[in-house]
Amino acid sequence: MHEFSIAANIVRKLTEVARQHDRKLLGATVAIGPMSTVVPELLSEAWKYVIKGTELDGATLQIDRIPIRARCRECGAVTEGYDPFVKCQACGSMNLQIESGFELQITRAELADGAENTSAAP
Ligand SMILES: [Zn+2]
Repeated sequence: MHEFSIAANIVRKLTEVARQHDRKLLGATVAIGPMSTVVPELLSEAWKYVIKGTELDGATLQIDRIPIRARCRECGAVTEGYDPFVKCQACGSMNLQIESGFELQITRAELADGAENTSAAP
């Protein structure tokens, strides 16, 4: 279960952002693609556990699930979906060029005075 180390990593980055602005973090959003192998439910659980007793305690984590986008090398069709074992929806080929779906990044950090910092992405 590597979600704990990922959550710890996200917490570390967000703590830095909050300190830079001298504000409390209220919430954050991370974008996760299916190819990142992160299970959103487990990351949510890990988040609550990791922030407990830290200066981020009480902050909410929103997880945006990004679909895989894959282009078929056989027929050129584009398939989107959440299954890491994606197949071309047009011809069934598994010979695909994955164009997105590896995302694992912080896309939003909401600080206590209402200021949003969208440049928190690693
Ligand atoms: Zn195809």
